[in-house]
Amino acid sequence: MKIPRDIVEKRMAEFLEACQRKCLKLTHQRLEIYRELAVSEEHPAAETIHRRVRRRLPTISQDTVYRNLKLLAQEGLISIVGMSHERLRFDANMGMHHHFVCVHCGLIRDFYSSNSAVATMPKEAKTFGEPVSLRLEVKGVCHGCRTRRRGKR
Ligand SMILES: [Zn+2]
Ligand SMILES: [Zn+2]
Repeated sequence: MKIPRDIVEKRMAEFLEACQRKCLKLTHQRLEIYRELAVSEEHPAAETIHRRVRRRLPTISQDTVYRNLKLLAQEGLISIVGMSHERLRFDANMGMHHHFVCVHCGLIRDFYSSNSAVATMPKEAKTFGEPVSLRLEVKGVCHGCRTRRRGKR
């Protein structure tokens, strides 16, 4: 499943605007790297983004992709989701949302919740500093893995 086109367009517009605001050079490579992330709901690793961007920019190196992703994350334009199967995963969705993470295959998907308990910052978080965002990480076994495991039995 892909991200709906109107959301992708909104992300692209916000990205262009943020690059201008932060005086980040908008190279063709950088734009294509971001676009691959913006159209995906997978929270892809750098290797995956590289493979996809290479279809349009055959000479781009994995290192370039990685450096750009790290820079965009530093600038707050994308986020690093954390490690899954020992790889950094990236996210273009900067809105308030939560993650479902499959412990078997590393699938990461966004979900939203209207449950207010999930949206309230625990005051204990202030022990270490000023909280800026809150995200729930639900670990589990995705439907695909459950079906595959059942098939093996
Ligand atoms: Zn899975
Ligand atoms: Zn996400």
